[in-house]
Amino acid sequence: MEKRFPNGKVLKLIQGDITKVPADAICNAANSGLRGGGGVDGAIHRAGGPSIMKELNEIREKIRLCPPGQAVATGAGNLPAKYVFHAVGPIYRGGDHGEANTLASAYESCMKLAADRGVRVITFPSISTGVYGYPVDLAAPIALRTVARHLEKGDTPVEEAIFVLFDEATFQAYEQALASW
Ligand code: ADP
Repeated sequence: MEKRFPNGKVLKLIQGDITKVPADAICNAANSGLRGGGGVDGAIHRAGGPSIMKELNEIREKIRLCPPGQAVATGAGNLPAKYVFHAVGPIYRGGDHGEANTLASAYESCMKLAADRGVRVITFPSISTGVYGYPVDLAAPIALRTVARHLEKGDTPVEEAIFVLFDEATFQAYEQALASW
């Protein structure tokens, strides 16, 4: 499923493994410690190889933590991309702890890194809806709107933003959010 804006930019939804989809930049759902983890983070480090963690170790020496809502960039090792943007989403604690703003900010941070690097194709996982517990029906419209706003405005070098959704339920939640615009 995809949405094409009048300026030709495209927002696309696919079901699959984000480590297999070629892009200029792949976004990761990281944690504040930037030390790797399970879920998509584990898959990205496994497929990308040790150079990504090596770069994160250097970043960690400078910033210690990456707060929720922010992102850092590394190379992509063996992944079919130039960069990985490690974005930290919110841990969902009921919805009244600023989670929606923090989630939007995580996607926004990736779009900023993309703009700085002239990224044309960017892939996103569904940040925070795994271990971090964000209900996917609430997260999907925030994720899509935050990215779509830039595509629609044209204030980004990104031509194609692809949400790569791992499981059927997540894919369907994003499809529904996109269809109900
Ligand atoms: P978070 O801690 O931000 O919730 P998770 O990695 O636990 O991050 O989950 C985020 C989403 O990423 C979930 O929908 C999960 O199913 C999905 N996911 C896991 N592995 C992959 C993968 N290889 N490609 C794309 N998405 C993935």
